[in-house]
Amino acid sequence: MAYRYEELYRLSIEDPERFWAAEAEKLHWFKRWDKVLDDSRAPFFRWFPGGETNLCYNAVDRHALGPRGDKPAIIWESPETGGSRIVTFLELYELVNRFAAVLKARGVNKGDRVLIYMPMVPEALVAVLACARIGAIHSVVFAGFSYEALADRIDDCSPKLVVCADGGVRKGKPIPLKKIVDRALEQARVKVPQVIVFDRGLERDWRTTPGRDSSWEEELERVGEARVEPERMLSTDPSYILYTSGTTAKPKGVVRDTGGYMVALHASMWQIYGCGPEDIYWSTSDIGWVVGHSYIIYGPLLFGIPTVVYEGTPDSPNPGIWWEIVEKHKVTVMFSAPTALRMLRKFPAHWIEAHDLSSLRYLFLAGEPLDEPTYHWAHETLKKPVIDHYWQTESGWPMITNHMGLEPLPIKPGSPTREAMGWKLEVVDEQGEPVPPGTRGYLVALPPLPPGALMTVWGSDEKYLESYWSRFKPHGKLLYLTGDYAIKDEDGYYRLLGRADEVINVAGHRLGTREVEEVISSHPQVAEASAIGVADEVKGEALAVFVVLKKGADESEALRQELIGLIREKIGPIATPKVLNVVSQLPKTRSGKVMRRVLRAICEERELGDLSTIEDGASVEEIRRALEALGRPVKG
Ligand code: AMP
Repeated sequence: MAYRYEELYRLSIEDPERFWAAEAEKLHWFKRWDKVLDDSRAPFFRWFPGGETNLCYNAVDRHALGPRGDKPAIIWESPETGGSRIVTFLELYELVNRFAAVLKARGVNKGDRVLIYMPMVPEALVAVLACARIGAIHSVVFAGFSYEALADRIDDCSPKLVVCADGGVRKGKPIPLKKIVDRALEQARVKVPQVIVFDRGLERDWRTTPGRDSSWEEELERVGEARVEPERMLSTDPSYILYTSGTTAKPKGVVRDTGGYMVALHASMWQIYGCGPEDIYWSTSDIGWVVGHSYIIYGPLLFGIPTVVYEGTPDSPNPGIWWEIVEKHKVTVMFSAPTALRMLRKFPAHWIEAHDLSSLRYLFLAGEPLDEPTYHWAHETLKKPVIDHYWQTESGWPMITNHMGLEPLPIKPGSPTREAMGWKLEVVDEQGEPVPPGTRGYLVALPPLPPGALMTVWGSDEKYLESYWSRFKPHGKLLYLTGDYAIKDEDGYYRLLGRADEVINVAGHRLGTREVEEVISSHPQVAEASAIGVADEVKGEALAVFVVLKKGADESEALRQELIGLIREKIGPIATPKVLNVVSQLPKTRSGKVMRRVLRAICEERELGDLSTIEDGASVEEIRRALEALGRPVKG
């Protein structure tokens, strides 16, 4: 008999220590915890203090050296390169041990940072797990970020070593990863003494910097069949840093612990994703995002089941490729993003229907709101439960979801359902007071945050307090701010209504508009700029940028292209604006604040709302005309 959601959830809230201890028992601890939760320094919550464990031991050794040694751990499919490979738990164990020995030989020790800038290849997982084995803190940077973004992250976390590949491929286009690393290292203030390059033979002319760079293969050969004992990590030791965009100009490094994260992920695999020992799990995300950390790498492997690692896009070489892979490997649980489905929806259904999807039980979606038409299309075409669930980099695992391993609740399209275990959520008003059902407000979490949620921001406890816990402080409440608007209905179901801050979500990826504005404003001809998110059919949101030039600046198409190029170079192609317009002024309030909501409404051809505070109404007309001149590319 499956557990009932209500009872289990109540237990997780009323007696979190008992609830999480029962889940922690299912994993290996070198030393048992002294206490389940230490909340004496709230909002710095520490789970399983005194406990000693190791993420790599639990994700790899436990299975490799037990009855699952010959079972696939990684199923790699790369339509981009034509590659396909299976790595068993035992093979993974051997590779991870050897790479851990390489890191050790290179002087990397517990607490040192290792930056990983890798495409979706099994070696990326090996590098991550080797760090976890020796207690080095990994920071994986999405291999689509530019050299500038990489340099910023290097400067923030001062890695002792960088692991990269020679290159990657996206839609057949080569991405020169090693060259990007070289440029980032030239630019960064922090000097990184060593770089290990996994040479895939994709890029011919990358340079080796003698004394700094070495090859993955040669390093592995040098250490031979080495074995490295897993480091006894405190549950409360950091395991990784993952950068995410926020309201500040620079991304923040979210810091994750070791034991709490492990326990939460393991529990989510059965409670939320409904997995058992025979499942085959595929998250189509990338290791550079939180979904990749939690559900390409750690979640499935901690649970001892194969994880599909996919290098490619949903529609290349054809829009049936995902379903071909589901059929080939008998994938049972899949996790993707609404944007991918919106893209697939444009193609005829036969691309899906041609495949035997009988193995597939559920499709989970997260990262951005799942609109109802896409939900219905996916549900009707796949004929499987489509489960929307909500979470963020900071939470590490779902906060609002249906639980397929318990008795599932009825699905309400447009809602990710109800709270995950241990998440005490509320929708509140400006004062931090709960609002009645059906009313929009800020989505907040009440302390304690459950295991797996962020510990702090790398290098700055103050930033952690300020970004997540200070919004309602004057009212004496400790509330964790998600940054999202939501509505809770009479049945306790949530609906997410988008960000309440200046963060936008392009194709499931978070982008801080301040980051974009800083980049544009750094151009010598730019006086000021405003970046906003506007509705987009496929990507959910797209970036629109409005620029005011300095007097005498040359208002040419070349300059416009230069500014677009600047954003791509400094942040990465994901930040490519859909629209970049030069205007003579931005709509501002009389107190000088840019009226972003007005900009957004003009772009989306909606009612402009209250304009009583606008400084100069002519700005509205000018933007309208500018958009029309571009053929109205962002109609809502
Ligand atoms: P990230 O940290 O980059 O994964 O982005 C997290 C943000 O994505 C959240 O704060 C939400 O704004 C949005 N998000 C994630 N999942 C959902 C969902 N299921 N429905 C609506 N918005 C979502």
